[in-house]
Amino acid sequence: MKITLKELTKRFPGRTRNDAGVTAVDRFDFVIPSGKLVGLLGPSGCGKSTTLLMISGLEKPTSGRIFFDEEDVTDIPPEERGVGLVFQNYALYPHMTVEQNIMFPLGNLKGDKRMSKEEMKRRALEAGKLVQIDALMNRRPKELSGGQQQRVAIARALVKMPRVLLMDEPLSNLDARLRLQTRVEIRRIQRETGLTTIFVTHDQEEAMSISDFIVVMKDGVMQQIGSPQSVYDDPHNLFVAKFLGTPPINVFAGRIKDGQVYIGENAVFPVAELDDEKPDFEPEDAQEMGSAGDCDVWVGIRPEGFLPDPEGPLVLGLKGIEVMGRDITVVSTHPDFQGDTVRSIIDAQSGVDATKAEVRMRVRPSKLFVFDKNTEERLYGRK
Ligand code: ADP
Ligand code: MG
Repeated sequence: MKITLKELTKRFPGRTRNDAGVTAVDRFDFVIPSGKLVGLLGPSGCGKSTTLLMISGLEKPTSGRIFFDEEDVTDIPPEERGVGLVFQNYALYPHMTVEQNIMFPLGNLKGDKRMSKEEMKRRALEAGKLVQIDALMNRRPKELSGGQQQRVAIARALVKMPRVLLMDEPLSNLDARLRLQTRVEIRRIQRETGLTTIFVTHDQEEAMSISDFIVVMKDGVMQQIGSPQSVYDDPHNLFVAKFLGTPPINVFAGRIKDGQVYIGENAVFPVAELDDEKPDFEPEDAQEMGSAGDCDVWVGIRPEGFLPDPEGPLVLGLKGIEVMGRDITVVSTHPDFQGDTVRSIIDAQSGVDATKAEVRMRVRPSKLFVFDKNTEERLYGRK
């Protein structure tokens, strides 16, 4: 089932005269495709939970509509929407067994949806098998690890056979190893059930690794939507470029001059070659780009975008080399760099001399992005 958000907005009014309130979600207008795992990604407070709660029906939008396929569900109460919810704190009932916890939502069904005890047990076991907790059905939550408790919570969300599965930072309470394991599990469960799943996280690596699509958000405003790789390769603004990737993108204060991208005194790249990246090049776009003329910009270069080259145009002060096996990290400085040290990841064979004071680099065009200094929007070659 696909989910369509139309101008979806949530405003929380201020409580006092000096408190202007906050627009937690600002005119969200996009489609979450059917049967996919979609990551809602952004820093704390950007409106992820509010979005999820509105989709579930637990929070009422200030304006805008929500559609499940073609059905407008905006005014339908949560229990009738067919959503399964999983939160960060698993919120299991401590005095109940795993089986009783998983069965619990079925006991609340009314009218012709009511089930016999046997039917409930059968469904609970089925959901337990799906999350691989079926051997522990008689334990109580305190006899389970955090990862196992979260599986029970997922089984409980699945037992009513929801139309959509909503997960709000489901891995945040787990330690690093369990977090990795459980995210693989969630991916498997989503594939097996084919359920449209929305997964909220502030962790870009988590979102990138698990999602078919990511929705990047900032201050209640959707920034970009796409496959993790396409958003990483084609960030539409500086925020998105900086939010995705470890180590993060290297940002320099730069300038466009005579058709070249300058960092300091060094012309590192011809602007025309960035434009060439654009697949369906349109003349009106060309004019727009041309009119940018000479101006100050931000230049972002991904860590893997540097190539050591004795003739390279970018001169960096060499601080050190960190060996990682196949690759090395070259740690360097530049007066126009925004931050402490430039981190570039290069092939261990590329022969950077660690004893030198300087290292010269060339830049891969597909890894260099130019942003407007004021709006921070991407300037060239945006797809
Ligand atoms: P996230 O889940 O991305 O961390 P939230 O959706 O929880 O963000 O919050 C988005 C914004 O809305 C924040 O500024 C938060 O303080 C505010 N907010 C969330 N819930 C409420 C509420 N019930 N009342 C007032 N403000 C709220
Ligand atoms: Mg939240």
